[in-house]
Amino acid sequence: MTTAIHPSVDHGIQKGASDFKGGTLRCSCATDPVEVRVDSQVLFNHACGCTKCWKPAGALFSVVGVVPRDKLTVTAHGEKLKVVDDSALIQRHACTGCGKHLFGRIENKDHAFYGLDFIHTELSKDAGWEGPGFAAFVSSIIESGTPPSAMADVRKTLREKGLEPYDCLSPALMDLLAVHAAKAKGTYREA
Ligand SMILES: [Zn+2]
Ligand SMILES: [Zn+2]
Repeated sequence: MTTAIHPSVDHGIQKGASDFKGGTLRCSCATDPVEVRVDSQVLFNHACGCTKCWKPAGALFSVVGVVPRDKLTVTAHGEKLKVVDDSALIQRHACTGCGKHLFGRIENKDHAFYGLDFIHTELSKDAGWEGPGFAAFVSSIIESGTPPSAMADVRKTLREKGLEPYDCLSPALMDLLAVHAAKAKGTYREA
């Protein structure tokens, strides 16, 4: 049995266009929508099972990726944005009208991912975004109400879609976090 993961996974994952330079994210308010311009392809785009990322109604996972924060500009109705949870590592800026998360930002300069903003490319109508490449925090969907007995089917579906399931981040991102920690401790070795 295949399990519905997220519309952009269930209907076939898009490959990014090699010449893609970015696009505009727009919330779903009928009037005065918030607009955010992104002058970059998305990086590390992935399905995320955590309980904090915004996801469309009915989806088990969000789809979220990062872009350099200097490539992201709020271009319309930034006054409608509000941080969802000030205490979270990622400050998710959501529209107070429709609830969509336009971008998430890390303000802690000591964090390994400082300088990267988190975005949901499904809020953009521009074609060419790189689709998700792995699934992170898979076990966390249990916290949103998925029964543990469904997890085998969920992981099988993710693999069939080409998304390796991880219960934290992908090895590449976990290594980046560890490199940052090793540098802070003075134990980092290049080779
Ligand atoms: Zn998440
Ligand atoms: Zn809105």
